[in-house]
Amino acid sequence: MSTNNEPPVEKHHFQAEIQQLLNIVIHSLYTDREIFVRELISNAADACEKLRFVQASGTAVFQPDVAAGISLTTDEAAGTLTITDTGVGMSHGELVENLGTIAHSGTKAFLKQLAEDRKPDATLIGQFGVGFYSAFMAAHKVTVFSRSRDVDGAGWQWTSEGVGGYEIVPAGELPRGTKIVVELKEDAKDFAKPDTLERLIKRYSSFVPFPIELNGKRLNTVQALWARSKSEIKDEEYNEFYQFIGHDHTAPLLRLHFNADAPLAIQSLLFVPARNFETMGMGRIESEVNLYCRKVLIQAKAKGLFPEWLRFLKGVVDSEDLPLNISRETMQDTTLLQKLNKVLTGRFLKFLSEQADLHPETYEKFYAEYQKFLKEGIVTDFTHREALAKLIRYESSSTDPGKQASLTDYVKRMPEDQKEIYFLMVPNRAAAESSPYFEVFRERKYEVLFLQDPWDEFVMEHLHEFEGKPLKSAEKAELNLGDATKKEGALSEDSAKTLAQWIKESLGDRVGDVRVSQRLVDSPAVVVEADKYMTSSMRRILKSMRKEGEAAPPEKQDLEINPAHPIMTRLDAMRQKDGELAAEVAAQVFDNARVAAGILEDPRTMLNRLNQLLEKVLTK
Ligand code: ADP
Ligand code: MG
Repeated sequence: MSTNNEPPVEKHHFQAEIQQLLNIVIHSLYTDREIFVRELISNAADACEKLRFVQASGTAVFQPDVAAGISLTTDEAAGTLTITDTGVGMSHGELVENLGTIAHSGTKAFLKQLAEDRKPDATLIGQFGVGFYSAFMAAHKVTVFSRSRDVDGAGWQWTSEGVGGYEIVPAGELPRGTKIVVELKEDAKDFAKPDTLERLIKRYSSFVPFPIELNGKRLNTVQALWARSKSEIKDEEYNEFYQFIGHDHTAPLLRLHFNADAPLAIQSLLFVPARNFETMGMGRIESEVNLYCRKVLIQAKAKGLFPEWLRFLKGVVDSEDLPLNISRETMQDTTLLQKLNKVLTGRFLKFLSEQADLHPETYEKFYAEYQKFLKEGIVTDFTHREALAKLIRYESSSTDPGKQASLTDYVKRMPEDQKEIYFLMVPNRAAAESSPYFEVFRERKYEVLFLQDPWDEFVMEHLHEFEGKPLKSAEKAELNLGDATKKEGALSEDSAKTLAQWIKESLGDRVGDVRVSQRLVDSPAVVVEADKYMTSSMRRILKSMRKEGEAAPPEKQDLEINPAHPIMTRLDAMRQKDGELAAEVAAQVFDNARVAAGILEDPRTMLNRLNQLLEKVLTK
């Protein structure tokens, strides 16, 4: 369509973060430039899938008879590559919003990862939801022609050279969908060669579920890998499929391909990525499992198919039992979805436990990367708690340093007289082994789990027990080593009790109860939280959550003393000679016990006293 008037040209700036991203893409990313082809095809495929979805939900679209598909053309003489799709297209508003104005949350994360990596990994760009901009690695100019699926929409032309923003002008009548013309940089002309393109499309896009043509020749054959028989599928095919649907360039860590007939007919292919993207600065990730019915996409990134704590999964679930015309909204809380969720989650958990048995090394890798999610499941999801409890792993006093064991193993190792499973929250193994709370367990040869992740406190609280055995903080264990006052050189029972009483009087309100301990070997004393529900690790967590300057919660710890320890026997003698000095020592012993428990609020307050004590020692 031609007009006599010049069309009005709208000039726009890129949003600051996007411009920043573009500057890096244009000037610093020279390796793996070819992935821009994958990204543009992937966007075209997304647009086609969205079209199918819009049509399936009964909305009228522009040119309904034009099937969704993708075609590429190369022009070596002109040095251009053109990618056209007949997907949903973009309206004026969508062009502005999607290509330049609203930065996805991934933009920042990707910028950060580029800044941190010595060798920036451009291939991740699609993962971070900014794949479109990768075109500028190879292009000096990109022109996007787009016509939205809206019946009364219009055609628009978007143009940019990457720097200096972009322009939009009306483009008159266009067929539905999007055409992207990539004008290649001088040193990127290779991408205008048909052979190069054919290789790239085969490599990256053979699983795109829409026909792809290159210069009029059909390249991919649509394959629903999940519907094929396992024995026919090669590892490479699985990996390529994963890389396509997962926008990932590495091989997956785990894969589960299964069929079920009852209670629902399901064909599913699930993957666990090698890396946990949530810990890479991406913020909360979203499940990328697409829901199909007889190979037709019902919902990409389907919500509710798996519990939240399995949001790291990527893949496909195909169920014949879904009504084809089901919409996103009605999908939300159908009982069907709940049933699917239950079957899928159960199957995946079973798969994990098989992996743990059959391939412990792979499971170890999985656990290192994803334990946070399993623990989240234990804390938030009652239904699967028991199965999840079997999957967690901890270092313990019976494992080699750095190795972890399951609760099932722990229970198998329990001596007959041990009734509870014990755990200690510690920053590391060394701290655990020198902890006064550990002494009784070392003597009794009871295994103790060394929990080193602050989350574990909540995990233990929610699990409560495992195979009928209560989970108990070692700090709260009611265990004893027999009467310590019978040991050689120990205070007698009476003297020990009197000393305890004297310490209580001397410390006053600062301490709860003071009593004679039955569980200490090497330590002179230990503190025990007076509150039944409080442990020192919980107190540490509360402390770390408190804002600067905020008052500490009132605390009260009981003190248990070791009647066989030289400090106690001598303290008992000293209190009768020099009450004042003995009181200082008692206060210091109490503070030391709190240091050992990691809960002394401000260690500076005890320094004066400690210095005075040192002075006295040195004048002797
Ligand atoms: P992502 O694909 O992860 O959303 P991109 O940077 O690749 O991120 O694309 C940004 C957005 O631009 C897409 O979400 C989509 O809305 C829009 N878009 C890009 N290419 C097309 C296309 N060919 N057809 C329709 N919309 C597109
Ligand atoms: Mg994309």
